[in-house]
Amino acid sequence: MTSEPLKFIADAMLGRLARWLRMLGYDVSYESSISDDVLIASALNEGRIILTMDRKLTERESAKNSMLVNSPSYKEQLKQVITQYNIDYKSGIFMRCLVCNRLLESIEKEKIKDRVPPYVYSTQDEFDICQQCGRIYWSGTHRVKMLKMLDEILK
Ligand SMILES: [Zn+2]
Repeated sequence: MTSEPLKFIADAMLGRLARWLRMLGYDVSYESSISDDVLIASALNEGRIILTMDRKLTERESAKNSMLVNSPSYKEQLKQVITQYNIDYKSGIFMRCLVCNRLLESIEKEKIKDRVPPYVYSTQDEFDICQQCGRIYWSGTHRVKMLKMLDEILK
């Protein structure tokens, strides 16, 4: 990425896409219930690209910086966004909380001993935490699966 990283705001239909883009490290604002006016206002205030399945919305003058998502399949949606914005999807991967959209911080293993399953604790050394919701993230089979799926989506 050469300039400022892209920021997005996803409409209420696109929760799964929002989580996947967060997984790739992108700042994606998402509310499960949001009016078009609020969506557009937030996009303008925060410099976000609107992701929406609503063609009418993208035709509004105030919603110029938007992308019409064509497919109901989140895999196709993800592919469309990555292709359209030429997204470098590996540099920021797994850096952001999928739920809060907040950047993760690394945390010492000893501090989270009681908060992860014993098997995970004994097999992993690096952990990240979301300071907003307290979720703990680590590498593991789920991440391997996600990467594999990403490769499949994009090939
Ligand atoms: Zn969080």
